[in-house]
Amino acid sequence: MASESGDGNCSAWAARDPSGVLSPYKFNRRPVQSGDVSLKITHCGVCYADVIWTRNVHNDSIYPVVPGHEIAGVVTEVGSDVKGFKVGDHVGVGTYVNSCRDCENCNSSLENHCPESVFTYNRIDTDGTVTKGGYSTHIVVHERYCFKIPDGYPLAKAAPLLCAGITVYTPMVRHNMNQPGKSLGVIGLGGLGHMAVKFGKAFGLKVTVFSTSESKRDEAINLLGADNFVISSNTQQMESLKNSLHFIVDTAAGDHPFDPYLSLLKVGGVMALVGFPSEIKLHPTSLNLGSRTLSGSVVGGTKDIQEMLIFCAANKIYPEIEIIKIDYINEALTRLIKRDVKYRFVIDIENSFK
Ligand SMILES: [Zn+2]
Ligand SMILES: [Zn+2]
Repeated sequence: MASESGDGNCSAWAARDPSGVLSPYKFNRRPVQSGDVSLKITHCGVCYADVIWTRNVHNDSIYPVVPGHEIAGVVTEVGSDVKGFKVGDHVGVGTYVNSCRDCENCNSSLENHCPESVFTYNRIDTDGTVTKGGYSTHIVVHERYCFKIPDGYPLAKAAPLLCAGITVYTPMVRHNMNQPGKSLGVIGLGGLGHMAVKFGKAFGLKVTVFSTSESKRDEAINLLGADNFVISSNTQQMESLKNSLHFIVDTAAGDHPFDPYLSLLKVGGVMALVGFPSEIKLHPTSLNLGSRTLSGSVVGGTKDIQEMLIFCAANKIYPEIEIIKIDYINEALTRLIKRDVKYRFVIDIENSFK
């Protein structure tokens, strides 16, 4: 078992208690085993999950918490059995680093739904250690949970794809939202929502953004390429869009009504939920009368993650990011809580630990 403390081989920043304040920390990563890849982390995206587990929001934080599950870097060592990677490859690691590798879900490349799936941080791995994430200088993972970042794709921009990107890409592909000419609504314009807009445009969809904030109109249209922008509290505008959309991706983190959005779907339309509101309340007629579907999703399986990275490179889809150094992380998490970020913080790990 790897040591959990001491003057370890990996430099990181960790939260020590529910205040969530992060500070420098050292620990030991395991040595590379036969199926493992070790990567030097160059960048790590900052996800709202990092707020949740550094601050013990779910009462399950295992301190010290080293957050970060949008990891990009360069392979520095591979185990003797590794087939897919070599030293120097650009790679990513997402929200999970282990699974049973033998259940129905694992055998269908749905490792994210494996009952024994191990999150990238704040979970007990099969060797008994507590997983530690990407706010650190290197990570060792089995090659199954490591993904090739195509040549030429900037590592800083690749990082947010490993959680925010795959979270919206998976339901969009599963529900066949990649049909040019059809219409998509995107609720919320944060880290996830802005990626849904970009994927929507790449799939050839007519994209309408629903936001509570007028201040996002200009960027939604001119920077992200949305076709239409609607303030969700404007009942007249909402009314005019009834039965008009084929698809909706709901990325809103906070509580919001569902009936007004479901009524915007055409007959047979699909609304994919990727956020975690405290409860979902809707009137049965919102679903039944239009034969509509409300569907849930969380991140994605290994096959989808690799496919998405290739799709983003081929279609030049790049997250909008604000690059920070690790010593800005406490301010960044505070700003993230206030939704004051366009649209994802990415930590320049490589230049933060010199
Ligand atoms: Zn995340
Ligand atoms: Zn499994």
